[in-house]
Amino acid sequence: MSRLTIENLTIRFGDNAPPVVDGVSLSLQAGRMLALVGESGSGKSVTALSILGLLPPQAQVRADSLRLDQQNILALSDSGLRGLRGGRIGMVFQEPLSALNPLHKVETQIGESLAVHQGLSRAQARARTLELLHQVHLPEPETMLARFPHQLSGGQRQRVMIAMALANNPSVLIADEPTTALDVTVQAGILGLLKQLQAELGLSVLLITHDLGVVARYAEDIAVMHQGRIVEAGTAAQVLAAPAAPYTRHLLAAEP
Ligand code: ADP
Ligand code: MG
Repeated sequence: MSRLTIENLTIRFGDNAPPVVDGVSLSLQAGRMLALVGESGSGKSVTALSILGLLPPQAQVRADSLRLDQQNILALSDSGLRGLRGGRIGMVFQEPLSALNPLHKVETQIGESLAVHQGLSRAQARARTLELLHQVHLPEPETMLARFPHQLSGGQRQRVMIAMALANNPSVLIADEPTTALDVTVQAGILGLLKQLQAELGLSVLLITHDLGVVARYAEDIAVMHQGRIVEAGTAAQVLAAPAAPYTRHLLAAEP
């Protein structure tokens, strides 16, 4: 069953500009991890941002269909999109520092979203926040509540981002290069956590990465993007073992 469905998505920045995303179709199946792979500039982030309604106003987004389950995302109002982002779709970005408010302690970062979207009281939000910090394996959750983003390590910040993304019980998680900015030793911990949460919570995960080693280890499905188009898609095992598209073969040959 497809959770997130994209059919023939095209995105331009400006009327006569060439498309940066060109006829993309994708299907994220329930409970699975789909890796969207491609070199820098191929259109991965723009695709993800379009799902969430986060592109700047000059972006022209066209699609035959953009659906979360049966819901047409293209027809949502701004407030509907905000509800979607805080609710059924969680998101994690490459740079947690840019997404966290530097002036807010962890308790407030997560608590505000819980208050807005679930109407929780301060005490309820605190309890739920502790539960979330526990779920993302942050040590000493009580201590973490009182920390500002700059008082956390890169890996801890990304765990806080993941806790925020999970706060309102999403069914889909979009993670855009969630470990690119982290030390290699920390990367596996974050990816392992996403994999564990996928299984525990039955999440469907769209993982954007340029690392085929990550795909082989963590993802069930893969879509390979090149110059705004999907050149190949299928199960990760099948595509990595026997790539059909020349570009996928090129990527695999370039792996260290
Ligand atoms: P990726 O995430 O695969 O590295 P992006 O999706 O960020 O690539 O970018 C795809 C293309 O769209 C790039 O050529 C980029 O320069 C362009 N682009 C992204 N955001 C904007 C924007 N806000 N305005 C104009 N062009 C943009
Ligand atoms: Mg990107």
